[in-house]
Amino acid sequence: MSALSELDRSKVVHIDLGSSEFKQNARDILAEWAKRPPFYVLCSGPAQVICGRYADVHEIFSDTERFSSELPRGHGFEQFDKFMGVQFITQMDGERHARIRRLLMPAFSARSLSRLEAHIVEIIDGMLDKIEAGGNEFDGMRDYGAQLVVGALLTAMANLSESQQEIFLAFHEVLPLTTYTKPGEPFAPECVQAFERAAQLVRDIIVTHPHMDHIACLPIFIDDLFASLAEPIRVYATQEVIGLLERDVFNWNVYPRFSELTNDHGPVMKYVPITIGQEFKVKHLNVMAMPVNHIVPTVGLIVSDERTTIAFSSDTAETQEFWDVVNRRPHVDALLIESSFPNSMSELAEVTRHLTPAALEKELKKLSHNGLDILTVHLKPSYRKTIIEELEALGIPNLNVMEPGRTYSW
Ligand SMILES: [Zn+2]
Ligand SMILES: [Zn+2]
Repeated sequence: MSALSELDRSKVVHIDLGSSEFKQNARDILAEWAKRPPFYVLCSGPAQVICGRYADVHEIFSDTERFSSELPRGHGFEQFDKFMGVQFITQMDGERHARIRRLLMPAFSARSLSRLEAHIVEIIDGMLDKIEAGGNEFDGMRDYGAQLVVGALLTAMANLSESQQEIFLAFHEVLPLTTYTKPGEPFAPECVQAFERAAQLVRDIIVTHPHMDHIACLPIFIDDLFASLAEPIRVYATQEVIGLLERDVFNWNVYPRFSELTNDHGPVMKYVPITIGQEFKVKHLNVMAMPVNHIVPTVGLIVSDERTTIAFSSDTAETQEFWDVVNRRPHVDALLIESSFPNSMSELAEVTRHLTPAALEKELKKLSHNGLDILTVHLKPSYRKTIIEELEALGIPNLNVMEPGRTYSW
């Protein structure tokens, strides 16, 4: 936009978009704007063009030469900085905007939409059945309207888990508060807090060993985030495993050596070497690695916060040190242990250093803790049914197969 002094003053409207007067009459004011030509609001922040008529909106969004979507970070920008410093698609120009659009497009293909429609119909049917079962009276907002965001938007469209939905809704609730942030003032603490919860993205990855089924998404994950990473992805692994990742994966042939690359903010990937038997911190968690018996150098992990301790075997055949360390812990809440092959494939399990249900039974005799949850993982998908039957036949209390996608808490 040209300099403020060049604006046609007759088109400036004095209105405080953050005032309670505006808030109370917002609907009528917006309806009125939809009928009038564009005008300016100067307010106390950056000058804005307000346009409500379809043709004007269309012109502005189509003409990226004259109009930019990026937010000038000058005086009073806070009220438009909805995600408190993080740029989002409607406030981006150029290639970054185009890239995110490209990434979003498949979600709007005819196929995705028809799948979505079926899911939404199912959810709405469920809501209606519930209302019907409740008798002759129902509250349109509580029993229907308010359920739409969670049911249709978050469950069907975004496929969020319950805990993710809760974080989203809490964030959604406080988000409008950013609009009332005065120039130069900090964002309301409840906004910052809700945003921090929502932004708890994966930035720390522990690699137990370099087998493909354990690292398949790692290069693509970093590649995908490359331009937007404000801090490097931290990859925790033993020096041996780091060496193998650098030699076999991030070797400029299979994938670029991300550990040597930077974006506008700095490095995009950083190795954090871990030492066997020595506790290290990942965010609020204490983690310890110990060697297990697999065909390549591999570690099992014990992860704990102040309250809860979880042991994870990673891929292993019969082993000892892992159990020694687990048994030395005063308390363990859950054990995640592999059970890769059915009993009939014990030979292959031995050669590839994995467990069968029968071998797992022997291993569990080395565990001195009682009553903890035991969850089996790493079941080869083609034999899943047989492995589950054989695990059930062991009759070990508290032993279950871990379900993908479910959130466990202890
Ligand atoms: Zn493996
Ligand atoms: Zn594996």
